[in-house]
Amino acid sequence: LARRNKLVVANWKMHGSLALCRETINQLNHIVQPGADLIISPPAPYLSELGRLAQQTGIHCCGQDVAAQQNGARTGEWSATMLAELGCHHAIVGHSERRQHHREDNLLIAAKAQACIDAGITPIVCIGETLDERNAGQLEHILGQQLDALLATSGWRQAIIAYEPVWAIGTGKVATPAIAQAAHQFIREYLAKTDADAADEMMLLYGGSVKADNATALFAMPDIDGGLIGSASLEVHSLVRIYQAA
Ligand code: PEP
Repeated sequence: LARRNKLVVANWKMHGSLALCRETINQLNHIVQPGADLIISPPAPYLSELGRLAQQTGIHCCGQDVAAQQNGARTGEWSATMLAELGCHHAIVGHSERRQHHREDNLLIAAKAQACIDAGITPIVCIGETLDERNAGQLEHILGQQLDALLATSGWRQAIIAYEPVWAIGTGKVATPAIAQAAHQFIREYLAKTDADAADEMMLLYGGSVKADNATALFAMPDIDGGLIGSASLEVHSLVRIYQAA
């Protein structure tokens, strides 16, 4: 996938079915164009079938998570190498739901990102603040800590970053384009302090209650390279419109 092409990533979370895999590929198959990339991230049991259906369509699939190790006694987990073998070029890491329900911290998430890079796939690293943190004026401090862990890996330049304010995920409270742009600009400038060229090329996605009717304004912002879409990606007609907005 081209660097800083627009990108839409559909995160189904623990939703979906084989029927949704078929419907999504059937409907989006004819719409995908070279100017914008589309990645579907279904629950892991559907990756193989979705990958098979998506062959030669220009649609890619990706994991919702990945282990920090390449193999081992880790029941219930899968590695970046396994995702690569299924044809995935990406994996989401550090989603706020993993941070919240599985107690994942910045260090573990950085290790998962590095495991992806070592296996030749691109991590989509999720960062973002809670409402309490934002209200306490800690936005830049929290994003800085999350970015520092990633910057300590050797492969950070190959990552995609998804800015997902926790207060906007699954709540219907979308960040305004200006609020989202300000956070994206902060992230890009923070990365630029380490490597300006890499920061300029880095894909930064916005996630948090993106819908068909707010996607165009968000994607028009200069530092927003696309979106990570949760609930709206489960309605195929919404996903079509969000992709078209990109
Ligand atoms: C997400 O799951 O990453 C997400 C942004 O969810 P939603 O679009 O439902 O807010």
